[in-house]
Amino acid sequence: MTDWPRLSDAYGSAEGVPDLLDRYEADPEAVSTELVDRLCPMYDTAFSASFAALPRLLGIAAGRAAGERLEVLYLAGAITRCARSSPEAAQMGTLEAAAFCRLTEETLTTPMTAVDYVFLLQSWMAFQGAEVWDRNLENLAEGEHEVDCPYCGVMLTIVFGEEGHFASSEDYANPKAQRSPLRPIDPAQAGGAVQQLYRRALADGQRVVAHGLPYMFGQAVCTDCGTELSVLDRRA
Ligand SMILES: [Zn+2]
Repeated sequence: MTDWPRLSDAYGSAEGVPDLLDRYEADPEAVSTELVDRLCPMYDTAFSASFAALPRLLGIAAGRAAGERLEVLYLAGAITRCARSSPEAAQMGTLEAAAFCRLTEETLTTPMTAVDYVFLLQSWMAFQGAEVWDRNLENLAEGEHEVDCPYCGVMLTIVFGEEGHFASSEDYANPKAQRSPLRPIDPAQAGGAVQQLYRRALADGQRVVAHGLPYMFGQAVCTDCGTELSVLDRRA
């Protein structure tokens, strides 16, 4: 039995967490904000009660139709990502990651928006323990992220969405801004997470996601000093 009063969440004692989970199961919309605020605020901090809540969250997710379990899978993915750097989580042992992974794979095959799909992919990476991918993939939904140039230190925006595929150190909305084209990773050659995600997104009919991936972590050239850099290395 979990000794909830001995655990903590973002609000302090976790005594009320079992009741919170009951209320969430009965009426997700009414409780969803409170659940995230207490167990994984901003999706980037977790507590002893968050890790202890994973078996229950797994049960809640498994009991729902695919389209209604996305939120639980995002939350569980974020908690699992936080668990990797937490001594408390290590003491608690297995965190149902394998079961969450299977449930996420089943859910990925169902129709959903590209934005939902990207967040779900990120959780999938978290359940597999794939560092870097488990916290960067969400940028695919925004079509850009930032890295600093390893030579001159300037901040480069890496753009890989509807605006095109390029790097720029300036406000790229300005037509006079310098842009340098990105060189995509070849998913067939890349292996690892790039290949796994690319194949998965194509198989699931998420073509926009699949085509953004190789650019997101490809090679870029600094528009200020001309240095070529690996975006994947700079985000690691
Ligand atoms: Zn530079």
